[in-house]
Amino acid sequence: MLRKKRNTKYIFVTGGVVSSLGKGLAAASIARILEGRGFRVTLQKLDPYINVDPGTMSPFQHGEVFVTDDGTETDLDLGHYERFASMTATKDNNFTTGKIYASVIEKERRGDYLGATVQVIPHITDEIKESILRVSKGVDVQIVEIGGTVGDIESLPFLEAIRQFWLDVGRNNAIFIHLTLVPYLGASGELKTKPTQHSVRELRAIGIQPDVLLCRCDRPLPSDIKRKIALFCNIGEDAVISAIDVHNIYEVPLHLSEEGIDEIIVKLLDLPDRKKDLAAWEDLVHRIRHPQDEVTIGIVGKYVAYEDSYKSLNEALLHGGVASNLRVNLKWIEAEDVENGGLEAELAGVDGILIPGGFGVRGVAGMIRTVRWAREHRVPFFGICLGLQCAVIEAARNLCGLETAHSTEFDEATNERVIYKLRDLLGVEDLGGTMRLGAYPAELTQGSNAQRAYGAPSISERHRHRYEVNQEFMPRLEKAGMRFTGMSPDGKFVEIVEYADHPWFVACQFHPEYKSRPLSPHPLFREFVAASYRNRVARRDALPARTESDAYAADRFR
Ligand code: GLN
Repeated sequence: MLRKKRNTKYIFVTGGVVSSLGKGLAAASIARILEGRGFRVTLQKLDPYINVDPGTMSPFQHGEVFVTDDGTETDLDLGHYERFASMTATKDNNFTTGKIYASVIEKERRGDYLGATVQVIPHITDEIKESILRVSKGVDVQIVEIGGTVGDIESLPFLEAIRQFWLDVGRNNAIFIHLTLVPYLGASGELKTKPTQHSVRELRAIGIQPDVLLCRCDRPLPSDIKRKIALFCNIGEDAVISAIDVHNIYEVPLHLSEEGIDEIIVKLLDLPDRKKDLAAWEDLVHRIRHPQDEVTIGIVGKYVAYEDSYKSLNEALLHGGVASNLRVNLKWIEAEDVENGGLEAELAGVDGILIPGGFGVRGVAGMIRTVRWAREHRVPFFGICLGLQCAVIEAARNLCGLETAHSTEFDEATNERVIYKLRDLLGVEDLGGTMRLGAYPAELTQGSNAQRAYGAPSISERHRHRYEVNQEFMPRLEKAGMRFTGMSPDGKFVEIVEYADHPWFVACQFHPEYKSRPLSPHPLFREFVAASYRNRVARRDALPARTESDAYAADRFR
């Protein structure tokens, strides 16, 4: 199967020593550099955990669930892949142990194995190898990241599969990049290579000889340390790369490029040595480093202490700032704290307010109060998914006088079910995979904030929800001033709501953050940040003393 002539080259990325070294970012950065050399690149993540997908995992434990166009709930690393490279991920770009086993067990039940005893080797490993091939079509280089850390019991079948894969496709068609940690010990004033040596030894014990070592470190590795690592780990000195800590993640491709990682990859994979152009990326990093002013966004959600649970949101806000050369300061506000008073104190200092997606009742009362504050104080407001639902509940209660209006997610028995279970899901009770997921189109009202932002009459955005706006209440909400400016083409789903008499109030049922990319910031984030900045400037103007930077800011947006 693998012997036939193929054009795709493979890079397998593994990690050692400790977790959270940024393997996903490293893989995504390598993809960006190779794209800068004109190669078509795709990325794939193989995750050793047993969950079929991360959809049922707590974002507090595992970070955000990233949703693809085709409606797959995937690992947040796929978000990095899409933001750094130009690929658009599908269900085949993320496999877990659970997904692999589910497929093998299904085949076994169907009798596909013709009476054989089904085993990890070869059946599970074959399934993994086939999964790798599924996204190879039409790409020059496929980067496959193996989740977890070498030495974990769960990763073994994946490592065995990629070892076999390498053997199948042959040298020059696949390489192994291993990410390790080279810690600096302050007490002795030394960089320590032993953890790297041990990790590589572990890898070699299962038959994998890494070709390139990416060494996470807090300072550049001097050449004697590189030489030592090369010698002990049996690789060339030019294949020992410093992966130094950076201020912001978008700098990683530039650092790795400076270290010459693409040169060694091109050499090892026998790829044409094309010219490299990272100019657009360099410009991006320059703009992030040198903002002309700043703006502060308050995000009222739950789990706010754990940054990874809102990864794409974070990035989309940063992109929105880049579009106007602004640094976006995020003020994370735990919705429950707002519930318990102190709302004014928390919200008074921010220029714009965002309520992100979420599940479960905790914090919802605080979010509804937050919407009211933003509406009444005319502070730019952006609601995403649960944020839209809170906006509708708030309007029903405070503008339409429906005091008990709620979502049936939070109050089954309410008489005013302004948000209720998706009609399509009635009778479906499982939590796993029972949501409206992935890309669906919406049509926008001419002249609305949304339509002006997108500059297009129809859009496609990614969804992840179980509840929807009950359209019975639409006439009353409209009478109270709410505008339904985005609807699914069949009129079945409310997708966007706004207020016309507010500086910028937009809430959407979908998750725009998934589609924002640093080189093409999402229109809604771009406009929300710009509106928040106008609010900042206006508030600043109202104050007597003005600094030079204030004057600059005021002029730009007038
Ligand atoms: N909990 C709400 C729903 O299921 C909102 C989901 C979300 O914000 N992603 O519809």
